[in-house]
Amino acid sequence: MGDSGDLKLIDDSGKRLDGRKLDELRPIKIEANVLRRADGSAYLEWGGNKILAAVYGPREAHPRHLQDPTKAIVQCRYNMAAFSVMDRKRPGPDRRSVEISKILSEALAYVVFTEQFPRTSIDVFIEVLQADAGTRCSGLTAASVALADAGIPMKDLIVSCAFGKVGGKVVLDLYKEEDNLGEADVPIAVVPRTEEIVLLQMDGHLTVEELNHGLTMTMDACKYIYGLQRDALKNRYSTGMDNEENPKEASK
Ligand code: UDP
Repeated sequence: MGDSGDLKLIDDSGKRLDGRKLDELRPIKIEANVLRRADGSAYLEWGGNKILAAVYGPREAHPRHLQDPTKAIVQCRYNMAAFSVMDRKRPGPDRRSVEISKILSEALAYVVFTEQFPRTSIDVFIEVLQADAGTRCSGLTAASVALADAGIPMKDLIVSCAFGKVGGKVVLDLYKEEDNLGEADVPIAVVPRTEEIVLLQMDGHLTVEELNHGLTMTMDACKYIYGLQRDALKNRYSTGMDNEENPKEASK
């Protein structure tokens, strides 16, 4: 969060600098089952974000001391490619990516029926190929499609989206400039069917009224994105008889 100085992030007609309305999402495209060697996968484009998610498992957890005799562990690794941001990112984990990996693992573990797979690990890899703010939300949204694509039993998909405050207004789905110069950034993740919140972080300052308004707006957006996730899964499997179209069938 920073100071936008003289730059007006909301213009006189109430539009944002990228032309969106306050409650408008960036364009989102989701494709399921894009990688042949993963058990499940998804590719997602969300505004300027490009994200790949791959899932392996449930498979025996290694090292063995990680095994839980009562349930599976969900291990998510969020990684930003060196070329994903303007200033090259130093490869490898850092404090930010370790923290994001932890909170995304916990959010995903909430919807997976982990007790059905004791002693195993479900490994989720999120690779950010191009970043433009909201990568943890995009990554989580892609990862939950990849988990479903892997056939892992879940209560529901998880959908994630951020809202924030820029130029004194509560806005949906910040892009990079708004994330850098705005007054608040609140990524959330939800279980759309039950409207439970499984992740909520807040950077900046908001009134209770602004927070409530932002949460309602983002819950509605998440329900829309939920439709896109389900369409991505339906598209993949409704055309599944054609080997050219379905990498899983072709690899058999
Ligand atoms: N970012 C960057 N370098 C970094 C980390 C982040 O340029 O090492 C950029 C990137 O575009 C990212 C944005 O800052 O999407 C916002 O980062 P934040 O930590 O708020 O996470 P995100 O919004 O992506 O979940």
